[in-house]
Amino acid sequence: MDEELIYSTLKEYWGYDSFREKQLDIIKSALNGYDTLGLLPTGGGKSITFQVSGMMADGMTIVITPLISLMKDQVDNLRTRHIKAIYIHSGLKYYEIKNAIDKCIYGNYKFLYISPERLSSETFIDALRHMNVSYIVVDEAHCISQWGFDFRPSYLKIATIRDLFPNVPIIALTATATKEVVNDIVNNLQFKKHNIIRKSFRRENISYIVRQSEDKIGKLLSILNKSVGTGIVYVRSRNKTKQIAKYLVDEGISADYYHAGLSNEEKQDKQDKWKRGEIRVIVATNAFGMGIDKSDVRIVVHLDIPNSIEEYYQEAGRAGRDCLKSYAVLLASPRDKAILRRRIEEAFPPKEALSEIYVRVCNFLDLGLGAGYDKIFEFNLALFCQTFNYKPVVVHNALKLLTQCGHLEYIEEVETQSRILILEDKDSLYNIPGMQPYMDEIFEGVLRNYTGLFSDYVFIDEYAIAYKYGYKVEQVFETLIYLSRQHVIQYIPKKRTPYIYFAQSRIEPKYLEYPKNVYEEGKARLEKRINSIIHYAFSDDQCREQMMTSYFNEESERCRHCDVCVEKLNKVKDKTKDIYEGILYRLSLKPNTKEELIDNLNFKESQIIEALRFLIDEGHICVIDGKYSTNKD
Ligand code: ADP
Ligand code: MG
Repeated sequence: MDEELIYSTLKEYWGYDSFREKQLDIIKSALNGYDTLGLLPTGGGKSITFQVSGMMADGMTIVITPLISLMKDQVDNLRTRHIKAIYIHSGLKYYEIKNAIDKCIYGNYKFLYISPERLSSETFIDALRHMNVSYIVVDEAHCISQWGFDFRPSYLKIATIRDLFPNVPIIALTATATKEVVNDIVNNLQFKKHNIIRKSFRRENISYIVRQSEDKIGKLLSILNKSVGTGIVYVRSRNKTKQIAKYLVDEGISADYYHAGLSNEEKQDKQDKWKRGEIRVIVATNAFGMGIDKSDVRIVVHLDIPNSIEEYYQEAGRAGRDCLKSYAVLLASPRDKAILRRRIEEAFPPKEALSEIYVRVCNFLDLGLGAGYDKIFEFNLALFCQTFNYKPVVVHNALKLLTQCGHLEYIEEVETQSRILILEDKDSLYNIPGMQPYMDEIFEGVLRNYTGLFSDYVFIDEYAIAYKYGYKVEQVFETLIYLSRQHVIQYIPKKRTPYIYFAQSRIEPKYLEYPKNVYEEGKARLEKRINSIIHYAFSDDQCREQMMTSYFNEESERCRHCDVCVEKLNKVKDKTKDIYEGILYRLSLKPNTKEELIDNLNFKESQIIEALRFLIDEGHICVIDGKYSTNKD
């Protein structure tokens, strides 16, 4: 294998000179045509492993990834490196998908990102046959395992493209490395050989600390006051992010909040300020972090306990990417045990309740019995909850379970991009009645910046236009809306909505099945995960890092810097302090032989000898005529 070529590809497109640990091994294995599972912790640089491999192959690499926002980030990122990349997900319209497929067949694209539910679409599978595929990449591969915290049944469909391209190697990547998950990945993806490349999950520069406290917020404040540098505080509810950020600000700490419910612009703004260091602490739900790359986070504090060690490890792992000393603090209180156990019941509502929600969702979407096959619907969760008087978390959990049972596919928060199509011909564009001067300029800007507007919908970015021509973004919106009222353009503004996709038609509730491996066993698996994090949060006799690494089936030494280790080291120091004091006290009364000291002090002979040697070396005592005495002067 030509290593030089691998390095020059890395340099040419990414500008890096060296690989991080295990990256090169994964790339080499893939280039040699082996199915490869790469296990690197979050931030370990998994993307580059398949991107470099993909760039070195002739054809196109298909990347399956669960989160649409990440998919877009990665595609944008590749495009800035002048690499042809494209994505297809369920938020796109039919003709957009068709368009993208054509590009993949004829356009020399290097990367196609897809969300897994695409693989249930016959049309898509048919199209795949015409593509020249060099690798199949399964990012976040733990989603294929029911043992993972984020199981997605549509991941199981990946095996179907394995059948379609039996000789194309698979590159699977994840940061979740428990034995069960790893087994599921290699088996479900039908690895020809179990070729697993793993980097240790130890993070030597992070000290894991658990603090028990009834007053978590007070504790948080004192921790932040005692520490320096950028921080993330994780909580579980959106409201709480806001409350706690406000509390911190009132107490003089620079802080802001972040959750998935904010508009993209707000999120971007808060993220940027935090990244630039204008805000020290960001209080967030777990929506914060994925795809966010700040290397000098010094402390991550959890006010609420996540559902599993994997999740905790991932979130805590956002500290200290620069390898400098950092802290991951989990605040626990006795109430947490009950709260965690309650989450099990919440995640698995009674089956009757699930069936009821299924029926109501179908009715809400106007979907008759027997209808819906391969259809996708926007789903207004808030309106649904209001209509039927449900709590959002209940519906959310129910839809996730219905998804796992295969009755529908709930796709959260797809964001569509705005797009326009021009309806008039070129000549009529210059005398549109009622256009303000700024509107003319903005429209001209749009025409200048995008091509193909006359033949097809084209994605546009209102913010980029506003920025480029010095207008407010509201003015750009106004212009586009005005033009669409005048029937000059068709304008589809962007929006965030969840979707529901039906891979099978609506059936009668009595036929809804809740397979044991999803419901009963799923509940048992969640229970096991929750118990593992309870163990982590409430025991104090094992090194925290060891608890974590042994959960990932890795053996390691005591870390010597988590709260448990530090506590133990302190005890040892205290104990040896007693020896020194004991010796010095006896010698202050009269000189003693070694045997006298051993007989009279309640310590092991070896400890006493060691302590004597230390005290002599340090000049506190001396030996005269075989007896030890203190150096009084
Ligand atoms: P993961 O998917 O493992 O969590 P990413 O692939 O998102 O991690 O990479 C995290 C960051 O590390 C990215 O900003 C990426 O550009 C950077 N990175 C990855 N590999 C290298 C490398 N060899 N040299 C320098 N930076 C790298
Ligand atoms: Mg990644």
